Amino acid sequence: MSADTTALAPAKSDFIRDMIAADLEQGRNDGWVITRFPPEPNGYLHIGHAKSICLNFGLAQEHAPKSRCHLRFDDTNPIKEDTEYVDSIMADVKWLGFDWGEHLFYASDYFEKLYGFAEQLISKGLAYVCELSAEQLREYRGTLTEPGKNSPFRDRTVEENLALFRRMRAGEFPDGACILRAKIDMAHPNIHMRDPALYRIMHTHHHRTGDAWCIYPMYDYAHPLSDALEGITHSLCTLEFEIHRPLYEWLINNVDGLPGNPYQREFARLNLTYTVMSKRKLLQLVKENKVNGWDDPRMPTISGMRRRGYTPAAIRDFCKTVGLTKFNSLSDVALLEHSVREDLNKNALRAYGVLRPIKVVLENYPEGQVEYIEAPNLPDDPNAGTRQIPLSRELYIDADDFMAEPVAGFFRLVPGGEVRLKFAFCIICKEVVRNADGSIKELVCTYDDATRHGKKPEGRAKVKGIIHWVSAAQAVDVEVRLYDRLFTAEQPDAGDNDFLQLMNPESCEVIRGKVEASLRDAKPGTHYQFERVGYFFTDPIDSQPSAPVFNRVVGLKDAFAKQMGK
Ligand code: ATP
Ligand code: MG
Repeated sequence: MSADTTALAPAKSDFIRDMIAADLEQGRNDGWVITRFPPEPNGYLHIGHAKSICLNFGLAQEHAPKSRCHLRFDDTNPIKEDTEYVDSIMADVKWLGFDWGEHLFYASDYFEKLYGFAEQLISKGLAYVCELSAEQLREYRGTLTEPGKNSPFRDRTVEENLALFRRMRAGEFPDGACILRAKIDMAHPNIHMRDPALYRIMHTHHHRTGDAWCIYPMYDYAHPLSDALEGITHSLCTLEFEIHRPLYEWLINNVDGLPGNPYQREFARLNLTYTVMSKRKLLQLVKENKVNGWDDPRMPTISGMRRRGYTPAAIRDFCKTVGLTKFNSLSDVALLEHSVREDLNKNALRAYGVLRPIKVVLENYPEGQVEYIEAPNLPDDPNAGTRQIPLSRELYIDADDFMAEPVAGFFRLVPGGEVRLKFAFCIICKEVVRNADGSIKELVCTYDDATRHGKKPEGRAKVKGIIHWVSAAQAVDVEVRLYDRLFTAEQPDAGDNDFLQLMNPESCEVIRGKVEASLRDAKPGTHYQFERVGYFFTDPIDSQPSAPVFNRVVGLKDAFAKQMGK
């Protein structure tokens, strides 16, 4: 793939950027902007995460040199986490064009410190060990309209709580026997402030700390304190965390000795039409073999999009286009496809590919003769060079470009009609030869030498249609994978929908096409525009030497540009 050097132009202003500008004006944090991207390593990243990555790493780039963005794995739940996910997340962030430098962190690196902070809260009378069962906890918590009730364990002494918490750590209790809770207010209007859990017992192996711990901090406890430990200035997350913000602030305000003073702000998550974005559902698609793994080109994962042939520049452009808002909405996948086309239109090498070949025989073209036609690799970029396309008596054209019984307004090849072969000359269809079953065997045509180089001989009607073609003898027979949307519904997991029932049975059609000779040795991971057909990408995994496999990245027709009247 060509080196991705697209500079990140600063994003338009938005409420987060305005807020940071105001902080800088007031001299907050000595003018530093330190952000973080905090994935939980329990799945592969998807296009929604790309929005958060572009925001957090983008802000660091915009505020250089007094800025940085950390990559922090929020690995506080050992049950679902795995190093496979850690590795894929790092690869995806890098591929998107971002670099955390030396600022790679794991919440699990702070387990000892976080434990110390918990003892500190206990010592201040701000946390206690509670032995209510899960069911009782729910019952005591109250509802949105009714206050909760104090736990009978709430008034334990500091000494008793410390001793019990140390015994929790020492492994003296089974899973679920007790939890450590913050002592805040059981009548608080925000349920998350009703003595939330800080630590739970889990006798589970952790992918980094092994068996060192059998108590693990809750995300809501670990996250603000990890931010503070790393000196994060702006902790940006999605709207569902807004209701957790008072707890975030309570912890920052009540734990002494924190090196940083972060605050949390929220933005709307990205939702996209015709796909699902919940990690749980994506995992289900993978585990139940509804798709071919996390990097299936139909998946909304970064690895799926990479394999399909989306580019980092296109994804970043899309994230910039959708921007930041404070209300949830649904973005049209056509907008993402539009960004992909814009980038590939500039950078994808042009080539000829015929997806559903019909043979054409030029009866007046000398048998055995081969000529070579020079064609530009990128029409707008002379530096991209040219290539030689063979032309001979037998060709293939696309079935879509021929109609035996033409409808009105069809300007391509028809019996008795004339069409231009791009870069070559015009041909007239003299005869349609059929197989015994009625299917087309070949089209017998004649070519007109006087029409080379776009010439129109005097007194002849202008030929309206121009079609692509490949020379039969030299064409390469290749596998082409035509991908389409994974789901048939705009919001496959909205309401009562069973998203698995809404999968598009035609989301991957595998066909054999014919491509021009120069693509025989196409390197895996290269973008092409098959002229008049669409954008294609040589599959980075399944392509073999001299046998490239082409993924359709996106068609040429831009529904979004059309909607916008472009
Ligand atoms: P989970 O349901 O497992 O918590 P998650 O999608 O929240 O899944 P995280 O690994 O916690 O996954 O996400 C890392 C970061 O990416 C978080 O800051 C989260 O807010 C952000 N993020 C996740 N999904 C989206 C999305 N659709 N749009 C924007 N940001 C997102
Ligand atoms: Mg999350």
